Amino acid sequence: MAFEGLSEKLQGVFKNLKGKGSLSEKDINDAMREVKLALLEADVNFKVVKEFVQSVKEKALGEEVMKSLTPAQQVIKIVDRELTELMGGAGSKLTYSPRGFTVLLMVGLQGTGKTTTCGKLAAYLKKNGKKPMLCACDIYRPAAIDQLEVVGKAVDTPVFTMRDCKEPEKIALAAMNEAERKGYNVLIVDTAGRLQIDEALMDELVTIKQAVKPHEILLVVDALTGQDAVNAAEGFNEKLGIDGIIMTKMDGDSRGGAALSAKKVTGKPIKFIGVGEKFDALEPFHPERMASRILGMGDMLSLIEQAEQNYDDEQAAALEKKIRKNQFTLEDFLEQMGQIKKMGGITKLMGMIPGMNSSAMKNVDVEKSEREFVQMEAIIQSMTREERENPSILNASRRRRISAGSGQPVSKINSLVKRYGEAKKMMKQFSGKGGAGRMNRMFR
Ligand code: GDP
Repeated sequence: MAFEGLSEKLQGVFKNLKGKGSLSEKDINDAMREVKLALLEADVNFKVVKEFVQSVKEKALGEEVMKSLTPAQQVIKIVDRELTELMGGAGSKLTYSPRGFTVLLMVGLQGTGKTTTCGKLAAYLKKNGKKPMLCACDIYRPAAIDQLEVVGKAVDTPVFTMRDCKEPEKIALAAMNEAERKGYNVLIVDTAGRLQIDEALMDELVTIKQAVKPHEILLVVDALTGQDAVNAAEGFNEKLGIDGIIMTKMDGDSRGGAALSAKKVTGKPIKFIGVGEKFDALEPFHPERMASRILGMGDMLSLIEQAEQNYDDEQAAALEKKIRKNQFTLEDFLEQMGQIKKMGGITKLMGMIPGMNSSAMKNVDVEKSEREFVQMEAIIQSMTREERENPSILNASRRRRISAGSGQPVSKINSLVKRYGEAKKMMKQFSGKGGAGRMNRMFR
């Protein structure tokens, strides 16, 4: 999961601040020095770090913050806002043609995950009610055409090819005609990649661009290549002009520097992130949610959305209502964990649960998580209904009884109750007065 190290370090800095009560200018300066180091270690672009820290510092030293009753909280709020802004603010969606037929031109260097992402995008579009068609425009490597055909099959989407044609713009135009004629409404054009940006590649892409006039040019970059990904984005943007970035392999990138720098350096937003090799491992990028995840505040909205895809509408609405009303019981907590298990990705989803941030899941191994889940289940099942709904009544003797019933040591029960308490506290942010505003802000 991306941002692990950064998340852990920032949370350490804030924990320190929170322990202080009132803050002096020196406290802020010291904290900002650590934030700066943490960002640099996460491989964030140096200039971006400098501006970011300067901006946070200026705001944090403002009168209202220093004089407020909770200065540390205010500083965290500022960092949250600035991180969100840094990654692109409200987030950017795909734009579709008002005419009803949309062309997406996919560009990027070799090995970044372009072809895989074409498939993921087709799957995503289908889920969202579109009818996509894929088009293979790599005239150099027949294997690339084969690969796209395999991808197309996997996501049940037709692939347009013209194996003997050596003019990619003609292939793309023919694909457009065919797609429109057959009633498809999005054409995803996969193009050739190179190991690095060169004139010939750019000329070819410009020719395709002029011929098909795509609604979006999406650049695929590999998060694992860090600042090289950002440089590639800058290069493509200058020579071709891009509309958005898809950052792949975020699942394997523990630093996250590319994702934090790309928007600021190129001016172009990240629209999607790739979080795995499977075709459903593509997520729309929400800067605000990502900032919350980095700061360990969890990402309840993404969790709710994931749940919606697995629950029926009624279950999802019930969960959302509970969170809003702060009536989230241990039973719900267990049910959530069960859903997560069903969704297949404990590691992926854990970071979204408040109180289970990256420091809690550092080096988490899936088998261990599965085992822990079974233990948690045993503990909660050994509780009475009343205890599950109101864990505050769990005194020492009740905990001993549950321990005997579940075969788990009392320490495990204590830690479960603590985790639940943290999750619940975080969820309070989404309920009550301030919460509604926050929810709205996130939904935008
Ligand atoms: P292309 O040369 O740019 O078309 O790259 P490919 O689509 O062939 O992908 C290169 C490799 O990256 C393949 O092994 C993909 O499975 C892998 N890949 C692509 N996207 C992701 C991702 O988001 N996460 C992970 N872990 N692997 C990915």
